Amino acid sequence: MTDVVVIGGGQAGLAAGYYLRRAKADFVILDAQAEPGGAWRHAWPSLRLFSPAQYSSLPGRMMPAPADGGYPTAADTVAYLTDYEHRYDLPIHRPVTVQAVRRSDDHLLVETDRGTWQARTVISATGTWQSPYVPHYPGMRDFQGEQLHTVNYQGPEPFAGKRVVIVGGANSGAQILAEVSTVADTTWVTLRPPRLLPDDLDGRALFALATNRLQGDTADLGDIVAVPPVRDARDRGVLKAEPMFSRITPEGVAWPDGSSLACDTIIWCTGFRPALRHLAPLKLGSNIAVDGTRAIGEPRLHLLGYGDWTGPASATLIGASRTARETVLRLGLAPRT
Ligand code: FAD
Repeated sequence: MTDVVVIGGGQAGLAAGYYLRRAKADFVILDAQAEPGGAWRHAWPSLRLFSPAQYSSLPGRMMPAPADGGYPTAADTVAYLTDYEHRYDLPIHRPVTVQAVRRSDDHLLVETDRGTWQARTVISATGTWQSPYVPHYPGMRDFQGEQLHTVNYQGPEPFAGKRVVIVGGANSGAQILAEVSTVADTTWVTLRPPRLLPDDLDGRALFALATNRLQGDTADLGDIVAVPPVRDARDRGVLKAEPMFSRITPEGVAWPDGSSLACDTIIWCTGFRPALRHLAPLKLGSNIAVDGTRAIGEPRLHLLGYGDWTGPASATLIGASRTARETVLRLGLAPRT
């Protein structure tokens, strides 16, 4: 029997590991990937964080600032997380994919492709990268061009000279538009008019806003960080968004007023959903109700990361720390000597 099984070895799982280590807990981290880094390992190479390194760090160890003085890249983040888990000697088993978590008398069974763990407590920290979300639009199956999601985007080169529609008014949509528009003819389509943060504010402001919301502050400055490529796109005049189309035709997209646009590619930057399939046997519903990070329907289960739903900014590097600390405190583990 293991006291705590953490599912997922991305930043949220590592932050939990740090506090579990400090509490001298008996725990393991099971991670489906063969190598460290969580979702950052799959991000497109030019992606940079929207906050400086010192505001993108897990507990205990600061992320080093990149040599070029800019914000860290996805590769810098993978290197940091790799170093982090070695430095704290976190007990990570990889690659181990958790297939199901089930109730069993006084504990939970964690069934994996490498055997079954018995756990007094399970912390699920599986992120969202494995559940890309694409909304349904009539006609999308008949589109003759290419459709891809943020998860499949690796850089602008394949789109050179093409007509590309980019869907989604958040950070990934704006950043992908910014670089694809340097080589392709782009159209940006968003559900609501996109809102850029003022140039002098970065991801720190989003974190502060998420925190202040806890105290009832309803200030709303915008959601897109004006990172340098996004500013450049704005200055080139390509950062203009059209309203959402209503259907997809074999040749492109069409709006309710009868207008249409031919295109070769649609890139869906439409976000993610929590990767929670392994929790289905617990029958907690599709939107698991939580008190802090603890599942109300199964108090031996905690959910870490995923989004504001499990704590303000809990799916960011800086925010992972606070929810992990509160979760481990709440487990009330008796310190081992
Ligand atoms: P992940 O990094 O996805 O890690 C989850 C781990 O769990 C993975 O290793 C996965 O393989 C494993 N796993 C999943 N299912 C199972 C299973 N069944 N069994 C075992 N293991 C499993 N945040 C910032 O702080 N700053 C930014 O600038 C920033 N930019 C972002 C840009 C983009 C495009 C995106 C998508 C996100 C960005 N974020 C940013 C948000 C956030 O930091 C990431 O989403 C982060 O990767 C979430 O970490 P996580 O540990 O919750 O999940």
